[in-house]
Amino acid sequence: MSLKRAVVVICDGLRADMVRPEWTPNLSRLAQYSRSFTKHRSVFPSTTRTTAASIATGCHPARHGLEGNCVALDEGNGLAAVSVGPAGFRERLKKATGQTLRVPTLSERLVNSGGAIVFSNVSPGAAYFHDPDGHGFVFHRSGSFGPGLQKIDVGEHLNVSHDAAGDTEMTTRFCDEVLSQRKPAYALLWQCEPDHTQHAKPLGSPEHLDVIRTADANVGRVADHVERLNDAGEDMLLIVASDHGHETVERTLPLSDLLVEAGLKECAHSTDVVVASNGLSAHIYVSDEARLRLNDIIEFLNKADGIAQVFSGEQLKELGHRTDTPLAISVTTERNNSENSFGIPGLSIAIDDSLLSDNNPGCGQHGGLGSFEQNPFLMIRGGGFVPGSECVNDSSAVDLAPTILRHLGVAGEGMDGCPLARG
Ligand SMILES: [Zn+2]
Repeated sequence: MSLKRAVVVICDGLRADMVRPEWTPNLSRLAQYSRSFTKHRSVFPSTTRTTAASIATGCHPARHGLEGNCVALDEGNGLAAVSVGPAGFRERLKKATGQTLRVPTLSERLVNSGGAIVFSNVSPGAAYFHDPDGHGFVFHRSGSFGPGLQKIDVGEHLNVSHDAAGDTEMTTRFCDEVLSQRKPAYALLWQCEPDHTQHAKPLGSPEHLDVIRTADANVGRVADHVERLNDAGEDMLLIVASDHGHETVERTLPLSDLLVEAGLKECAHSTDVVVASNGLSAHIYVSDEARLRLNDIIEFLNKADGIAQVFSGEQLKELGHRTDTPLAISVTTERNNSENSFGIPGLSIAIDDSLLSDNNPGCGQHGGLGSFEQNPFLMIRGGGFVPGSECVNDSSAVDLAPTILRHLGVAGEGMDGCPLARG
């Protein structure tokens, strides 16, 4: 019997419309042997950490509990915005709420079925939320961990730079060690590029196109490696995707300050009403004491310059969020399809964030529901997926985990997503 395994490669932030033969020759070649999902979508917010948790669990934030790249937590002194990015966030979340993710990850589901190894070069928070409780292995430059969150020795630790060169070095180790030697049932390689550069340089700029080419070359190496293993008798499913796209930041909006000026929030650091920016969207958390102001806040947001959509109550459920927590409102910003200076369409407004420095006007950002940030690419090769075919039905990041488990022959109940149609 052939050995079934699943391999996922993510090019963080690569827009589907940027998968082009001249920029991504390897992805374009891979598409000929894969099933491409042309209406693939991220989750909301379209942020790396939230999407990582959705890929790991097959669930939307309402069920896995990681609501954004930035969330509000009550750690004993009232609500405050906290970034999910630092390595210590999982412990803070566990201390504040009693748990990390609220549903099992692929690493947990596969603990007795071949195991999981994650190699990630994005933020520590995004890496660790693939397996926050340590069922398998997570390798990351901020610290690599094995089962039981046992720290991995310096010699074996993934000590790579947070850039394209680091992605390339990580890819070499992934092919040699993970795919050829350790052979877990589930192996994930998550490159930081092109997202990392997109936040700092204009979309379509020479620096941006350089890192797209590197990310694409790394995908090509993994795909060739998987093909050789399949030719040697294995039955490996290869999923290559991005987690979200990007839009260009046209300007920023000081939403928290505007709420203070309107008398709807006490002061900049007050705990009554807390704005957690997710780039091109924001969550607004409202304490029990401030709930009487909720309708006034919604009315203000509906009229606010730069805000496109306001979601509250049952509308939050449709976005994939709970309706029974302090997360009371989500907003997206206004956008248009005009081009940036390099001819790349999609301009949007970012919401000011005291915790992040990723809102750079003229450069890329994401987090909302814009057409480009919500159109990541997805292609699947092997496992019975029809080569060279296209699926034009909706698919989502939450569909990856059930698709992987179906290939591995492991039960995948209790997920929001569904296994994707092979053809
Ligand atoms: Zn990302």
